[in-house]
Amino acid sequence: MLRNDQLDQWDHDHFFHPSTHLGQFARGEVKNRIITGGEGVHITDRDGNRLLDAFAGLYCVNVGYGRQEIAEAIAEQARELAYYHAYVGHGTEASVTLAKMIIDRAPDNMSRVYFGQSGSDANETNIKLVWYYNNILGRPEKKKIISRWRGYHGSGLMTGSLTGLDLFHKKFDLPLSQVLHTEAPYFYRRADLNQSEAEFVAHCVSELEAMIEREGADTIAAFIGEPVLGTGGIVPPPAGYWEAIQKVLKKHDILLIADEVVTGFGRLGTMFGSTHYGIEPDIITIAKGLTSAYAPLSGSIVSKGVWDVLERGTDENGPIGHGWTYSAHPIGAAAGVANLKLIDKLDLVTNAGENGAYLNKSMKEALADLPHVGDVRGEGMLCAVELVADRDDRTFFDASKKVAPAIAAAMAKRNVIARAMPQGDIIGYAPPFCLTRDEADTVVAATADAIREVLG
Ligand code: PLP
Repeated sequence: MLRNDQLDQWDHDHFFHPSTHLGQFARGEVKNRIITGGEGVHITDRDGNRLLDAFAGLYCVNVGYGRQEIAEAIAEQARELAYYHAYVGHGTEASVTLAKMIIDRAPDNMSRVYFGQSGSDANETNIKLVWYYNNILGRPEKKKIISRWRGYHGSGLMTGSLTGLDLFHKKFDLPLSQVLHTEAPYFYRRADLNQSEAEFVAHCVSELEAMIEREGADTIAAFIGEPVLGTGGIVPPPAGYWEAIQKVLKKHDILLIADEVVTGFGRLGTMFGSTHYGIEPDIITIAKGLTSAYAPLSGSIVSKGVWDVLERGTDENGPIGHGWTYSAHPIGAAAGVANLKLIDKLDLVTNAGENGAYLNKSMKEALADLPHVGDVRGEGMLCAVELVADRDDRTFFDASKKVAPAIAAAMAKRNVIARAMPQGDIIGYAPPFCLTRDEADTVVAATADAIREVLG
């Protein structure tokens, strides 16, 4: 094993960390942490610290760490056949089985799964499929994609464009011109202080309608959204939002892509966020929870309606010109099969719903009297605490104060990991589904103590 000082040196000299302040890291103002193990909801680092990971990595280790069933399935697949491609009709028992298991669990009318490696590449696939679809239907102008401010859909060229957070655009020459952003369904921040939820939903709808009117419905191919805004602040939609938005999309023949990278496979206490909110998508993006991140794997689930057009397209144009070397990678597929079996066996979706509700309720109660806690919100095993300088008029803290990172750091000192979300003073929670009520209590207590320490 490498000595710690050697690891530190190599880390600083050679490792390009994603989503990291490179200057601060180089100067040692942002510390590294080398993770060495995990069990259940806990991870350990090389200094021997054991931390309760209340964000499940990046909301992905849904079944928890150290699951031997998945490790064994990966090892067995690697020994038997570590790789074969999926082009021109090839596959493995694992990839075919996983596709069947996904369709069995997906909302009605879903037909086929295209496998990728990450949420970003799955959304890139989705946009290409939508463009292909409209070309086959003889609508070459119908290509623009509507996303939402504060949506998160990845950090590629197209997906970084779909993402509605400034940090992912600034200095990268994004967003691309085919992408439009509409109002975020973020009642706490975007509604007027005296507006009702219903009035705010009507505002979101009228913003969308105005955009479609301005651009022309015949230029707009699809709308993409997460059932619950994730990286943009963990914001469940206001009541009636999805129903109202879908009405507009249907009227204008605009496809709906539900990005379920976070919500897919149980995080809301239901197998898919789409069924949770009555969303009827044409395409669903899946990743993270598909394998609980034991191996990289993502997918685009396409509906029967979309599939029929794609099939017709290849009859007219030849094989679909879209493939990755690692599409349906056997090791990822084996991890996915074992992961979904484990979720069923342990009834983890039910646990996510029940103990997630407990976490949310306890968090609300414990923070009720803290003057800088503006909002506590969540759904299933997702929770967020938003901090404000003034509770009555919801004013932000000065961004330079970095309140959320300071609270997350104060929680880490108490051996609990929560995430300072990238935009706004928001602490996010997305624990593994196996979180117990005792562990939820630990998370809540660490949060309350950390907020008191930082904000008094
Ligand atoms: N879509 C959503 C909703 C996500 O939360 C993420 C990642 O957090 C992505 C897409 C991108 O996934 P990846 O980081 O695997 O590319």
